Amino acid sequence: MNLSQFNRILRQVFLLPVIALLLMAVALYLQIRGANSTVNLIQESNARIAQVSRIEKLILNEESGLRGYENTSDNRFLQPYLAASSSLQAEFDRMQTLPGLDSVEKHYLDDLIEKHQLWQDAFALPVIATIRAGGQVRDVDLNLRGKIMMDDIRQDIADTTHNAEQRRSARIELWRRQVRQMEWFLLALALCVGISIGLFTLNRLHAVSSAYKTSLDVLGRRAEEIFQSEQELRTTLASIGDGVITCDAAGRVQMMNPVAVQLTGWTQAEAQGQPLEAIFHIVNEKTRDIVENPVAKVKRLNRIVGLANHTVLIRKDKTELNIADSGAPIRDRTDGIAGVVMVFRDITLERKTQDALLANEKLAVAGRLAATIAHEIHNPLDSVSNLLYLMRNGASKEESEQFMDMAEQELARVTQISRAMLGLYRESKAPVQVDLKEMLQEILLLMEHRFSDERVTIHTDLPSSVSVDAFPAELRQVFTNLIANAAEAAGPGGEVRVSITPRGPDAYSNGIKQEPGATVLIADNGAGIPDDVRPRLFQPFFTTKGERGTGLGLWVSRGIITKHGGSIELDSDTGHSTHGTVVSVFLATKPTINAGGD
Ligand code: ADP
Ligand code: MG
Repeated sequence: MNLSQFNRILRQVFLLPVIALLLMAVALYLQIRGANSTVNLIQESNARIAQVSRIEKLILNEESGLRGYENTSDNRFLQPYLAASSSLQAEFDRMQTLPGLDSVEKHYLDDLIEKHQLWQDAFALPVIATIRAGGQVRDVDLNLRGKIMMDDIRQDIADTTHNAEQRRSARIELWRRQVRQMEWFLLALALCVGISIGLFTLNRLHAVSSAYKTSLDVLGRRAEEIFQSEQELRTTLASIGDGVITCDAAGRVQMMNPVAVQLTGWTQAEAQGQPLEAIFHIVNEKTRDIVENPVAKVKRLNRIVGLANHTVLIRKDKTELNIADSGAPIRDRTDGIAGVVMVFRDITLERKTQDALLANEKLAVAGRLAATIAHEIHNPLDSVSNLLYLMRNGASKEESEQFMDMAEQELARVTQISRAMLGLYRESKAPVQVDLKEMLQEILLLMEHRFSDERVTIHTDLPSSVSVDAFPAELRQVFTNLIANAAEAAGPGGEVRVSITPRGPDAYSNGIKQEPGATVLIADNGAGIPDDVRPRLFQPFFTTKGERGTGLGLWVSRGIITKHGGSIELDSDTGHSTHGTVVSVFLATKPTINAGGD
């Protein structure tokens, strides 16, 4: 249930009672109006009864006044009669104008007025006239008629009063009924309204409470899920082999996993809330310069970053560890950086293993070369001993001179080979100027015999002289391996091309000035490298040559070239007629040697 639905329910729960009470009020008003009009009718009846009794009293006064006058003939006794008579007409008129007279009452009234008029005309006025004329009214008949007339009038008055009283009783009864009805009606209405408001409110509240329960359930489930995933994350972080530190956007430490605690030497409690650099103190292994804080770097570059090579972590107890690490931004909903996760590991052992592997590869290269060299040296030495034999066994002077020249040449070749051999092992402390052409020629010289054995043809395209600053022993190792790989790939009857393309100081590519240097290309027309193998070429120990290979050549070569600030690329084709591999190595004339590498 959303907020607008909830508000609708609130409005309903408020409006329903208001509407019900309004309806009740209207019904009550109508009922009361009905009862009120009945009360008005009762009042009308009362007024009529009162009026009739007033008229009755006046008629009584008339009669008794007339009787007194009859008896005494004294005018003073006639006074009540006259007063009553003069008032009566007005009272009759009033009676006729009373509201709510129906036809029966009108008939009674008209009858009464008529009878009274008749009594006056036929009895009262003749009696008065007779007495005034000084006579006596002893006529029994006349008096009897007068009495009968008056009795009739009395009867009429009694009937009128009775009729009015009956009507009044009926009206009072009606009023009582109305009041009772009203009571019942009110009771029923109140009951209905109460029950329906109750039921409706119950229903609405039920809807609200079930919506509330649903949202509570959802929240509960979500909380459970969050708890679960947090647990999973915690377990993952705790069991992960790398150190993990999370920081907030300001670079303050939030959390460290046990490996991070162990590697840095700081406990989670000590580190919590500290700036990262306070507990994660990293410097360059060689220069001892402080390395940029990974959090700052992630924020600056706004992406995942790796540490520079040769980073050393200075632990809390000031001991040092070689580490590799990376930092990744934690994004908030708006893609801003809410924090940074840092993952790092101790690579001290790895570094030692790498060094051992390098030494191993060097030995392997040397070992294989030793066989080649023995072979190479064997041939000229064989020639020399043959020549010496020929000289000792009676060669002429000219012949001896010629043989000595030949022997000298052969020995020069041996010297050359041994110098090349030495070059492979003589390490120099600092980079020196290396003539690439000379180096490649020496390497090819050493391998010449092997090539002819394997029936591999070598083509060279070497310009007069190209020099680069480098560690010669290392470069020799690279080229020896690359040329050996090419020859092995080309196989019997195959071809290998070695060329150098110098790049002058004014080279541009896409408008960007290129560093001067030289690209050494080593191409073969071997079978090429299948796509599934290519991603693994530069991994250590990856070889397709079984026992004959170490799988370290390309890995070591890339390390060396990277250290020389150069690049090594491999391009291969397995097409039917276009198969072959080209390895290109670029070396800058004056590179920035990555001092830490080896
Ligand atoms: P290794 O020569 O001891 O096998 P490398 O690192 O020198 O080790 O080479 C790794 C693998 O790369 C080789 O086993 C081979 O399969 C492949 N490879 C290297 N150079 C070539 C090439 N020129 N042509 C075809 N495959 C090559
Ligand atoms: Mg190799």
